[in-house]
Amino acid sequence: MSAGTIRKAKELAKNGVVEIEDDLYQVRSSSDPSKSYFVTSDSCDCQGFKNFYKFHHGKSLKANCSHLEAVKIFKQIKENLNGKK
Ligand SMILES: [Zn+2]
Repeated sequence: MSAGTIRKAKELAKNGVVEIEDDLYQVRSSSDPSKSYFVTSDSCDCQGFKNFYKFHHGKSLKANCSHLEAVKIFKQIKENLNGKK
């Protein structure tokens, strides 16, 4: 994953992720704030994520995108907060 993706993900984690229910998050698009994607711990409905499996089908690689990464960071932040209670 590129440094740019990680930077974007960190920004999204801070102000672009909404927890809808357990393992379902809504993540704002970083390129178009009016758009958002539904993300779970291992899937995202953005085009980049879908394309990954189209191009790398059967190579047993894990797709990733800034939204999926943002959710990972979001969860880590939440766990850290809970740990400080
Ligand atoms: Zn995505």
